[in-house]
Amino acid sequence: MSARESHKTAGFVLKSLSYGESDLIVTFYSREFGKISGIAKGAKRSKKRFANVFEPFSLTHIIFSRKNRDALAFIEACDIIDHYAAIRQDLEKTLTASYFIDLADHFSPEGKHNENLFALLADFLALLTKETASEAAIRFFEMRLLKITGFEPALAACVRCKTPVTNGASYTFLPKEGGIFCAACARPQRYDQSVSAGTVRTLLLGKDMDMEKMNRVCMPEGLASESRSMLCGFITYVLGKEVKSLKVMEQVRRYCP
Ligand SMILES: [Zn+2]
Repeated sequence: MSARESHKTAGFVLKSLSYGESDLIVTFYSREFGKISGIAKGAKRSKKRFANVFEPFSLTHIIFSRKNRDALAFIEACDIIDHYAAIRQDLEKTLTASYFIDLADHFSPEGKHNENLFALLADFLALLTKETASEAAIRFFEMRLLKITGFEPALAACVRCKTPVTNGASYTFLPKEGGIFCAACARPQRYDQSVSAGTVRTLLLGKDMDMEKMNRVCMPEGLASESRSMLCGFITYVLGKEVKSLKVMEQVRRYCP
């Protein structure tokens, strides 16, 4: 019989699924091990052992064991480090945090660890604790996530002729190519997205901007909607599906200004 080794790590709860009568299958994004899925035996019954720790985006301290990297982990203990009460009291913030967590889940393969992704979640949840995320901040989260996970869109120059972005020019974003084409190189198809130099420059600036300054960036409506459809379209293309939590968040943001 192989000995199971216990591991300790900090992890954000990505999701939890009911399993059988009393168990939960919980997925975490951990600092040291990346994404981990594990079974919490008796979690639905034992309020004492696992007191409301498995809510999405909670930061927890986990002790788990598993036979090998691909096996489902056995969650031995789990305690809350931060439940993010200030976020949970506010519907819009909760939906934004859920979107961030959903994206992190979709873009993280099991077993591959990426400390930058863990730090990105920590930074943006800390921001949401203090204030509501601006439209720009949500786009910058997407840009940072794409960069960290190896899907950064090429926005600094035309993908084909390599001419750097010029003020006032208009570009076409091709999800399939992962970048922009200048007017001379583009042969836009029906669903290709046209983007202005202003949109491209703002997204490039925001992806490396200081967190404090980032949430102060105000995007005019035209630029905001271009950025939104470009990035969300690209994310849908990369994942091969729509991210459901995006729609819910956007509807609430629209009706509760
Ligand atoms: Zn070109």
